[in-house]
Amino acid sequence: MDSADYTEVALRLANADLTDVESVRAALHEEPWWADRVREADLPLLREVAESLRRALATMVDSPGPDSDGAVRAEVNALLAAHPPRPRLSGHGGHDGTPNWHVHVAGPDAPAADEVVAAAAWGLAQGIVHHGTHRWGRCQAEACRTYFLDTSTNQAKRFCSPRCANRVHVAAFRARKRA
Ligand SMILES: [Zn+2]
Ligand SMILES: [Zn+2]
Repeated sequence: MDSADYTEVALRLANADLTDVESVRAALHEEPWWADRVREADLPLLREVAESLRRALATMVDSPGPDSDGAVRAEVNALLAAHPPRPRLSGHGGHDGTPNWHVHVAGPDAPAADEVVAAAAWGLAQGIVHHGTHRWGRCQAEACRTYFLDTSTNQAKRFCSPRCANRVHVAAFRARKRA
């Protein structure tokens, strides 16, 4: 994983449905090495960290600017202090004798949840390092609160997905026709 992947993990955890183990596994399906190891006992930690990630994201989305920079920094630093990444060079998953070099952020025996939250804390910090605090957004479709990072050049992203954009545009079109 690299910085961008860790930022994805932060967003995925912030947006995840953490109702039960099944929903967590669904949210982490792109990281099967974590998803498969998630247990009931991991849920409170994942929920607590997701809430903290959402607080930081909401602050950046709702009140971006110098006034909120301190609050964002405090939130992210509290996360990093409570769930410090422990970088560990790893080479598994390579072939033909060439290691697949990458860095893990937790010890080899750490529970999956420990690595997920350390990855998320590190990823949010790295996302802010690379993109600042102004490019984070929340989907504007009704009933969708999905957070995203807008890396488009014109920074005009309003929806988390084409699906949400379509839903809103179809609704607006119908409303116009009724009017
Ligand atoms: Zn690995
Ligand atoms: Zn959405």
